[in-house]
Amino acid sequence: MPIHEKTLLAPEQVLQADKLVVDGVDVSGHWNTMILPRTLTDYDEDFEKTIQAYGGGENVHRCWQCGSCTNSCTMYAINIDFNPRYWIYLVRLGLKDELLKDKDIIWQCVSCNKCTNICPKDVRPEGVMKAIQHWMEDQGYVPKAPSTLFDEEFTRQCLERGRIEDSEVLLNFFKQTRQNLWQLATRGWLGIFVARMNKWTELKKGRIGRFLARVPILMPMHMAWNLVFKPRTRSWGRTGEILRRYVEEQKRIAHG
Ligand code: SF4
Ligand code: SF4
Repeated sequence: MPIHEKTLLAPEQVLQADKLVVDGVDVSGHWNTMILPRTLTDYDEDFEKTIQAYGGGENVHRCWQCGSCTNSCTMYAINIDFNPRYWIYLVRLGLKDELLKDKDIIWQCVSCNKCTNICPKDVRPEGVMKAIQHWMEDQGYVPKAPSTLFDEEFTRQCLERGRIEDSEVLLNFFKQTRQNLWQLATRGWLGIFVARMNKWTELKKGRIGRFLARVPILMPMHMAWNLVFKPRTRSWGRTGEILRRYVEEQKRIAHG
């Protein structure tokens, strides 16, 4: 396992004699490495609290740096720069700049939760990875993740209308993530939709009536109606406003 903390050392802090013999014992090279002390000043002493305020990051203070999370990590097996233990260490020290050096790979966590299962201190490293990602999104260091865009669209509809329309959630999600809607419709959703009807045999046998009777027509019409007229839960206006204020207040309490 690479020693990631080495990145915290400036080269001039590492002293090493190429050739050194002490009392007849050859301690040349790595054996005589000395590291000069360094005083950290570029840290944020509240950063641990900031991450704890995000869902999943609550237990980050419990970590005792055993490394079990990284050793068991699915992503670490593929990319040795993906290191939950190291990032938790940086969170605890408040070294945001060091953490941001890895901002392009932290999102690679696949939420397999092997780390969480093995952690002896119930830190829930998977949750910490998510908390760090959300903090980076909120601060504008990285673009919003697809899961965040999905959550935002879902929440927006709940707050505005007291209900969600599945087709509208998906449509807006695909638009915001700039996915090819036509390709998704023809090769993805529509393909599965048609395949699951599984009634082509009826058509092939010339039973057109039975085929049409089993083709879902009403549901797409209902979805289209909801997309256009955007129905709301009855008397939702006041309730929605109260809910919105409550959500904003909770965010303010958590993140300031
Ligand atoms: S397994 Fe838990 S205690 Fe060990 S380094 Fe990872 S988060 Fe810390
Ligand atoms: S949940 Fe993420 S950090 Fe944890 S083991 Fe899986 S890939 Fe690694």
